[in-house]
Amino acid sequence: MQILTEILELKTSDRTELVDITQNINAALAECAIRKGIVNVYSRHSTSAVFINENESGLLADFIDLIESLIPSDGNYRHNKIDNNADSHLRSFIIGNSETIPFEGSSMALGTWQSVFFLDLDGPRNRRVTVTIMGE
Ligand code: ZN
Repeated sequence: MQILTEILELKTSDRTELVDITQNINAALAECAIRKGIVNVYSRHSTSAVFINENESGLLADFIDLIESLIPSDGNYRHNKIDNNADSHLRSFIIGNSETIPFEGSSMALGTWQSVFFLDLDGPRNRRVTVTIMGE
């Protein structure tokens, strides 16, 4: 088995911003010599998330509306006394910050309507996502 690591450098321009990173991950898979295995996509930040779903603009707006209704940005949070971004941490906490996807050949074995997203919840920032490719 071989293990390979690649860092995706992302630059966001809004506080809450979705970035479809499917092609970035497939590019890393295409460049490496590992042809079958699993790829783990991990965000190194506590105010961001990684998830898999459909890249449809109406749905993506629905996701943003849902997280705003579940965890309002103007809520009364203790963490805001230290750092004014409790909503970002709480949103990250419920969504999660990694996904593991099987791959074969030079791309992920995703369903037709699945894409991999990085979600910045406290941008704009420079963000780093670790892509760990494991297989043979
Ligand atoms: Zn904080």
